[in-house]
Amino acid sequence: MVSRVIPVDTFDLVIFGGTGDLARRKIFPGLYRRFMAGQMNDASRIFGAARAALSEQEFRDQIGAALKEFVATDRLEPEAVEGFLARIFYVPINAREESGWEKLKSTLRGDVVRAFYFSVAPNLFPDLAERLHAHGITDATSRIVVEKPFGRDLASARALNEVLARYFHEDQIYRIDHYLGKETVQNLMAVRFANILFEPIWNSQHVDHVQITVAETMGVNGRGAYYDKSGAMRDMVQNHLMQLLCLIAMEPPYHFDPDAVRDEKLKVIRALQPVPPQNIVRGQYLAGGGEGSYLEHCDNPDSRTESYIAMKVEIANWRWKGTPFYLRTGKRLRARHSEIAITFKEPPHLIFDDAEGWKENVLVIRLQPNEGMHLMVMIKEPGPGGMRLMQVPLDMTFATAYAEAAEAAEDVPDAYERLIMDVIRGNQTLFMRGDEVEAAWAWADPIIEGWEARGDKPQGYDPGSSGPEDALMLIHRDGRRWREIK
Ligand code: NAP
Repeated sequence: MVSRVIPVDTFDLVIFGGTGDLARRKIFPGLYRRFMAGQMNDASRIFGAARAALSEQEFRDQIGAALKEFVATDRLEPEAVEGFLARIFYVPINAREESGWEKLKSTLRGDVVRAFYFSVAPNLFPDLAERLHAHGITDATSRIVVEKPFGRDLASARALNEVLARYFHEDQIYRIDHYLGKETVQNLMAVRFANILFEPIWNSQHVDHVQITVAETMGVNGRGAYYDKSGAMRDMVQNHLMQLLCLIAMEPPYHFDPDAVRDEKLKVIRALQPVPPQNIVRGQYLAGGGEGSYLEHCDNPDSRTESYIAMKVEIANWRWKGTPFYLRTGKRLRARHSEIAITFKEPPHLIFDDAEGWKENVLVIRLQPNEGMHLMVMIKEPGPGGMRLMQVPLDMTFATAYAEAAEAAEDVPDAYERLIMDVIRGNQTLFMRGDEVEAAWAWADPIIEGWEARGDKPQGYDPGSSGPEDALMLIHRDGRRWREIK
């Protein structure tokens, strides 16, 4: 099985913030890989834009260095790198000033896809939108890509949506959540909606509970002051974990079509119940392993911002009433490990004597590391010794399916590159719609306001652990246990 590359139309892509960290680490390396794969044609061009007064050559040198740092060495073919860099240009522009825009306008072509990636601080999004419009650089066919965070509460998200809506139609706005671009996340939709096996048992009658874990080993050092203004709820739960929850919980859309999918996700968000304080545990990592504590890293000894959160979330609809979704995410944890685990209920009656050997069926969707999917099922332990049961994984990992064509597996695009190609194609299925983002904030706001009003302090947890003690209790008291972070 070999991955099929479908070339996209010719484009002019402008990356505002083209000299920034995200552009260097993800956007340009991703575009290079798409160029290598033949998906981006020779006539397409990429423009970096930022305030720095760089010549074209200086910018190309910077991107060349970024490719060396962030693209696997065996994919760096000198001819391909040269060919890619020849399609890169630089325009000095300050989002807040008038100069540079007319030059940009005269440089861009009218007969190709025009896309503008806002890879700058969110407070510059309105300036960019306004100036692109004022200088007549965008028309009804242009697209803008907006990075996270999209607001820090409902009011700011709504204000941002309103500003963008002044200059762009909703079908021109691509709010990026790179979790949606992951191969396995899309595979989850294929598994759910292209098989008859799962949907009939995909409900509270058969699913005991769902766990969504996004664990990181890194702390916030270096960007502690910035992180301290958001915390795990705003930075991770309101967007990434929420999107994953939606894909698991949504009803089958009538078609795999942007609005059909997003309508179903929106219904899930609207059905989320308020989360009472006893169903939330927040934590801050302590010092250890030669590194400082969260409070030291954010340089604020009184900070009440969480670097960890665990919560039990309930969805009030016919399908999910009674099935809890346990979410947790945090920094400085035992391992870098992100997964969704769907644990099914016991069979109504166990006919085997080996009750101890029996374990639940679990569908595990692993996002990182080693993206893949497996279903834990029970079989008979091989050999003599009577009917003893054992649990084995049924592997549904795409890397395994592609094993015969190793190079094809390398061509599977990472989340950013897939999403950028979707922007060029004009496919918004894997991007968040404005009403979805607002609904997610409408759910998150009262939860955050609750702990702020009560003055709740996060609990300390040891670096390298799986989080605060109380997070264990959150799930133990329901007679369940967290899956291991490993
Ligand atoms: P960054 O490293 O601080 O880069 C910011 C970029 O914006 C630079 O290219 C900077 O270049 C440019 N810039 C700053 N002020 C400008 C102005 N007035 N006009 C035009 N350009 C200006 O930030 P980043 O980490 O790349 O993040 C960019 C965006 O992506 C942010 O919204 C961030 O929240 C989001 N994001 C980043 C990551 C990540 O891993 N880095 C992950 C998820 C989301 P000059 O100083 O030369 O102007």
